[in-house]
Parts: sequence; structure tokens; C-alpha cells
Amino acid sequence: MPLRRVLQFPDRRLRDVSKPIEAVTDEIRALAQDMLDVMYDEPGIGLAAPQLGVPVRLIVVDVGWTEEGAEKSPRVLVNPEIVESEGKTTWNEGCLSVPEFQADVERAERVRLRATDLDGNAVEIEAEGLEAVCFQHEIDHLDGVLFIDRISRLKRSMYVRRREKQLRQEREEPGSQTAV
Ligand SMILES: [Zn+2]
Repeated sequence: MPLRRVLQFPDRRLRDVSKPIEAVTDEIRALAQDMLDVMYDEPGIGLAAPQLGVPVRLIVVDVGWTEEGAEKSPRVLVNPEIVESEGKTTWNEGCLSVPEFQADVERAERVRLRATDLDGNAVEIEAEGLEAVCFQHEIDHLDGVLFIDRISRLKRSMYVRRREKQLRQEREEPGSQTAV
């Protein structure tokens, strides 16, 4: 099966607030598998269901797998919720839905999460550093928030203008090619 496509800014669907998942069905498990396939293919270290155009509260995260010799060990979380956060940290973030852009974002250094796993069991997770940042980034997606909403207005508007120009060029290119 072909991989699902990741929606890219400024697709409006990235701004929707995703719905809670009422039951972990085979459909949800299949969606989680699709999300992992896309994340490892891109490659990325996290993905949220709305990035594939499915507005439900499901995220996948695997922050260690890109290191040399590391095994894949994905976390798949249904209805994740941050119940405690502590400290501050800044990471240079990027996003599969925000092409060709990275920026420093300040977030909590440590978080405690509650979620449901793919067997329908309640889980509680503590994370720090990059993993904590990644959870916060993915949960933001479930609320229609992108990391560019958490940077200065100036930096954001510079990116938005650059992105608009890039999209204009992409639209114009196919036309010029048909002349050949
Ligand atoms: Zn993202």
C-alpha cells in the first residue's frame, strides 16, 4: 500500500482540533501502523494523526531510532494528555508539516502524560529532554497548534512569506514545462 501523505502548512486541516478516540478499534491500530510507516519513511521522530488528515487524538513518537545502532522503539499514545510539566528547555524544532524550516522553541523540560495504549490500557509516562519536547510538539498538533505558533511573530512571518513564494513557484512550474 502506498504511504499516506503528510499534510503541509498552510493546509487548513492542520488547524482543526482533533476528537478523542472512544475505543481502540482495529481501524485505530491500522491508522497507528500507517503513522509509524510514514514517520520512519520520512524520516521523523514523531507524528500526529491530523498530519495525515485524520482528526483524532493519536500520536506516535520514537526519538532514539535515528541514532546509529539504535533499535526502533515506538510509543503509540491514544488520547495523550499532559498532567504535569516542569522546567524549561529549548530545542531547535522542525516538523514534517512545515517544510524546510527549523527554529528554537521553548517548552517544558519534563512532562508527565496520561494516555491509552493500543491494547486499551491506561498508561502513565514520564519524559524529559527531547522526548518530552516531542510529546509536547505532537500533542500541540492535536489542538491545531504548530511549532511556528510558538516562535516570534517576525520569524513566523518571514517563514510564511518564504513558504507562500515557494508554493507560487510550484504552481507556476508545471505551466512553464508544458511549453516544451
Ligand atoms: Zn509536527
